[in-house]
Amino acid sequence: MKNIVILGSTGSIGRNTVEVVKNLKNMFRVVGLAANKNIELLEKQARELGCRKIVCNKEYVRELQKRLGKDFEVEHGTEGMVELSVQTEVDIVLCAVVGTAALLPVLEALKNGKDIAIASKEILVMAGEIVMKTAEKNNVRLLPVDSEHSAIFQCLEGKKKNDISKLVLTASGGAFRNTDKAELKKATLENALKHPTWSMGRKVTIDSASLMNKALEIIEAKWMFGVTPNQIDVLIHPQSIIHSMVEFVDGTFLAQLSVTDMKFPIQYALAYPEKIPGGLEKLNLAEIKSLSFYEPDRTKFPSLDFAFYALKTGGTMPAVMNAANELAVEKFIGGEIYFTEIWDIIENIMNEHKVVENPTLEQIIDADSWAKNRLK
Ligand code: NDP
Repeated sequence: MKNIVILGSTGSIGRNTVEVVKNLKNMFRVVGLAANKNIELLEKQARELGCRKIVCNKEYVRELQKRLGKDFEVEHGTEGMVELSVQTEVDIVLCAVVGTAALLPVLEALKNGKDIAIASKEILVMAGEIVMKTAEKNNVRLLPVDSEHSAIFQCLEGKKKNDISKLVLTASGGAFRNTDKAELKKATLENALKHPTWSMGRKVTIDSASLMNKALEIIEAKWMFGVTPNQIDVLIHPQSIIHSMVEFVDGTFLAQLSVTDMKFPIQYALAYPEKIPGGLEKLNLAEIKSLSFYEPDRTKFPSLDFAFYALKTGGTMPAVMNAANELAVEKFIGGEIYFTEIWDIIENIMNEHKVVENPTLEQIIDADSWAKNRLK
């Protein structure tokens, strides 16, 4: 039996995680749930899972405590998420809070010897080196939930770092893969949210439409697998059946395939190193018939160039790229900017930023705040 904390339990990944846990009750027990404002769902999840420790936004603590009664303990904010994550009984913390709000809880959990199943890619983009060093120092695992990184992680099992030639991240191409460059400026929120293959939260769906999701994943892969930027490639694969692949030095490839359902990587991260029959839908390649691939259009989508530039520059630049994207996406969702202005904002902020090399955590947090304030 593994004791699990779910940070971001009310989101798309969080809800899928709850499904996985409910399906495998004999293996997993939830001992902490955290989200922001969706207290209706938090209440339901707490009762359903018999989880007594809950964290929500400060504004809603009283209301949620009143609804749940005195058998439940309701706390708030970052401190609340830290307390949940470092409880003695916790084995693994699944982090699916959108953005970087759970950076400190993740670091504290690692320092307290907890394994982390990480969906929140923004955390690795912002502070990948610090997060990976903290995991290594405390001899704990950082297990990928992102489907691409889960695929690569599985392809690399039993392999040596020197065996790797390239990591190939596959991308669906997002909502605008067939839209002309000239049309992109007029792209609406409604259209940007129409992801061709995955059903996900709003931010990651917009990130997929701009290919910023793939930019974040390039940086995530660099830290998670310790490769150089030129060992990372991106390939558009519209069917999203191959979740990513690895090319080895002998010229052979390994790929990982399944139907598009985030429960697969979530279940694997929680059950690691076990492969368990969780009753998820099987892949039928005969029905799918063909898989296709093509190179990303880096003129239409400048996001990948931002990621490689941020990695080459290093220091605080990836954190600034991530922060600028986060704010730009909020502005697009709020109807304040055109879709293509997401890229203009990121580029301008990256150009303005005075990079701090080998930054401390405080300097990274400062760079993140600088970029966000610069945009407000
Ligand atoms: P959603 O927007 O669906 O959910 C976000 C979750 O974070 C919600 O539970 C939300 O709570 C919670 N949250 C937001 N702000 C805070 C905060 N300050 N403190 C605590 N909780 C907070 O996002 P997704 O589930 O789609 O994505 C989550 C992460 O996983 C992202 O980093 C994304 O890139 C990554 N990811 C997602 C995939 C997917 O299929 N969805 C695939 C791969 C990676 P509330 O509901 O109360 O607002």
